Amino acid sequence: MAKINENYLKLPGSYLFSTIAKKVAAYSEQNPDKEIIKMGIGDVTKPLAPSVTEAMHRAVDEMGTAEGFHGYGPEQGYDFLREKIVEKDYKAREMDIKPDEIFVSDGAKSDCGNIGDIFAKDNKVAVCDPVYPVYVDTNAMAGRAGDFVNGHWTNLYYMPCTEENGFMPELPEEKVDIIYLCFPNNPTGVSATREQLKPWIKYAKENGSVILYDSAYEAFITDPDVPHSIYELDGAKEVAIEFRSFSKTAGFTGTRCAYTVVPHELKLNGTELNGLWNRRQCTKFNGVPYIIQRGAEAVYSDEGYAETREAIRYYLDNAKIIRDALTEAGLTVYGGENAPYIWAKTPDGMKSWDFFDKLLEEAGVVTTPGAGFGPSGEGYIRLTAFSTKENTIKAMEKIKKIL
Ligand SMILES: *Cc1c(COP(=O)(O)O)cnc(C)c1O
Repeated sequence: MAKINENYLKLPGSYLFSTIAKKVAAYSEQNPDKEIIKMGIGDVTKPLAPSVTEAMHRAVDEMGTAEGFHGYGPEQGYDFLREKIVEKDYKAREMDIKPDEIFVSDGAKSDCGNIGDIFAKDNKVAVCDPVYPVYVDTNAMAGRAGDFVNGHWTNLYYMPCTEENGFMPELPEEKVDIIYLCFPNNPTGVSATREQLKPWIKYAKENGSVILYDSAYEAFITDPDVPHSIYELDGAKEVAIEFRSFSKTAGFTGTRCAYTVVPHELKLNGTELNGLWNRRQCTKFNGVPYIIQRGAEAVYSDEGYAETREAIRYYLDNAKIIRDALTEAGLTVYGGENAPYIWAKTPDGMKSWDFFDKLLEEAGVVTTPGAGFGPSGEGYIRLTAFSTKENTIKAMEKIKKIL
């Protein structure tokens, strides 16, 4: 008889967003005349930039001609895009990354999840707490996380990110093999400086660990001390894989385009991980559509860059509105300066779900309870800057009124 992957049965239900949706639906049913403002949106809301859609239109037309038709493309992405990425995201910031170290994909979420394919099952994995759930669940599916007991996976190494440590994980006190880091962070909105990242490179070198660096929110960085890439740090190419995405940078959440960097210098036991990832992608992935890659290329044109920056600026302005209003309302807030996320401490040690309920029922504002991102998220709520400016202002007025 065929057998299922039993690891899937160990996964707790993903109740966070469905519970929120149910609570919101119940509230609007009981209060049909009350307005609800969603400040928990985890998706961009601004449309694609004109340069991007124009490039996509041109690519669509090309596809309808005999000369311009593109069938299966290279699994790793077209050279025109890989070369642009190297030039604009790396060379322009004085990093030496080669086009064949770039793997274009349909998402950083897929890549963060799929990367586990090239690692053995018995690696010890470290994750931040709170955390983007993809890192945890995909390792659980692979059998690397152990069992889920009292809110914790028995084989994962949790690195609490708390107010005491400024939401910066501390170096593991034991030897871990794979370390997931995400900066600017989702959900806390906190970013890491070069100085804060340096010890991680050293730790990884000393312990033979690999850092999986999720840089999905790189475009939101405003602080010059915050690196846009892990490879801005010396020695990072020997220990780190980096994930980037056009999703938050350029509004590609619905069009799907991202890339992963696996430097040739990164070797385990003499084997280049670049070759393994290439083998994995060639076997299981058939590339991102030509039309989409032409759209992504346009993000790097002068106009495309200016247009996409405008949307980022808009979200960052919203983040500032949220930070200022919540601070004025007496809350302690973190993040929102180099990220579209604000991590707010609940008042008087209130549980995050209780504060979520209070904001929904009294102010009609939907947030995300921090406890949904891991045990250390208890006592916090996450707000996002992806709403419209008008709604952001309105939601903040309502919250100020009730606090
Ligand atoms: C949104 C997000 C991504 C991007 O995922 P895509 O699949 O590229 O849309 C990656 N990592 C984190 C932490 C995110 O929040």
